[in-house]
Amino acid sequence: MSISLPMCAVDFTDATLSDEEQAIAQRITELKTILGEDLLILGHHYQRDSIVMHADFLGDSFMLSQKAAASTAKHIVFCGVHFMAESADILTSDEQNVVLPNLRAGCSMADMATLNEVEAAWDEILLESGLKDPINRENPEQPAAKDASYLVPVTYMNSSADLKDFVGRHGGVVCTSSNAEGVLNWAFERAGQNGAVLFFPDQHLGRNTGMAMGISTDRMPTWTPGIGAMGELKGARIVLWHGFCSVHKRFTPSQIHEFRSEYPDGLVVVHPECPRETVELADANGSTQYIHRYVEGLPSGSAVAIGTEINMVARLAREHPDKHIECLDDEICPCSTMYMIHPAYLMDVLERLVDGEVPNQISVPPSVQEGSLLALNRMLAILK
Ligand code: SF4
Repeated sequence: MSISLPMCAVDFTDATLSDEEQAIAQRITELKTILGEDLLILGHHYQRDSIVMHADFLGDSFMLSQKAAASTAKHIVFCGVHFMAESADILTSDEQNVVLPNLRAGCSMADMATLNEVEAAWDEILLESGLKDPINRENPEQPAAKDASYLVPVTYMNSSADLKDFVGRHGGVVCTSSNAEGVLNWAFERAGQNGAVLFFPDQHLGRNTGMAMGISTDRMPTWTPGIGAMGELKGARIVLWHGFCSVHKRFTPSQIHEFRSEYPDGLVVVHPECPRETVELADANGSTQYIHRYVEGLPSGSAVAIGTEINMVARLAREHPDKHIECLDDEICPCSTMYMIHPAYLMDVLERLVDGEVPNQISVPPSVQEGSLLALNRMLAILK
């Protein structure tokens, strides 16, 4: 479920907006009216309020990719980071444009895995593990041979389009934090009883999901480019890329102990990009959509500490004044790249769209379209 935001969500008298921000908000609304049905604005949960107030839909990367895929709008303005806009471009038609208000808005985790690194790792892991590549040029929807053991690549949505293409071409699939377990089940079925998954770029999501599925840590070695495997590749079930999210790795067990000493009945919910020790100690973990539902479901008067990006936590606190909601890390800063989407940039791209330009267009090269679309569509089909 994504959150649909009606136009009336815009409040120009919001005391938290400066005069300049109110003027920008007013202009964005005028531009939205001019562009009408030609425009769809998608906003990620980690965006600031002065962006979210203009979004037609607010959601996580999976939900927003579904919204992009279902949209017929000519211009899709993605208020998120680069890999999300790439996925939207892959899932939309050639007649639609995907625009990222600030081209510098990337994701440090996505940058931790490059195609060259993954290709090199792929060859080495196949060699060392004795597993086969599941590529099947005759029928991409079936493994190459029955009763063999394969290495199946699974990439988190937070990765570049060329990696999604790699995954699609090698019989693998994309996942998000909403669907990682379902996707891994699919991948294990394809890999065979003694096969394995190469999961990138986030080691924590891979490890936390694997552990929730009953896989022991000794069967989940970590792979670091230039260093190789930490742990045994033979018999591995998931080979975890070494990447991590610089925001979520800040949440620690000691923060949970501190919160519980102050709120003995309080609850802790964290994102699965957090380290394993933190996830194990929390009361619950899940995607941003899951965290939304979790907080909504708590009775009035509950105290909850949340381990995810601060913009979302602050918004939840305002939406639920009857509950005590705080960020698990009281010194945490917002995701610095999500924060690069400023309302002035949003206004600028809308002005230029009205003028007939297509600024800051995210265009995935045709050479990587086919494989990445295959990998994304496999994910969407698994979840149907
Ligand atoms: S919160 Fe972490 S994973 Fe999400 S965009 Fe920011 S750096 Fe990337």
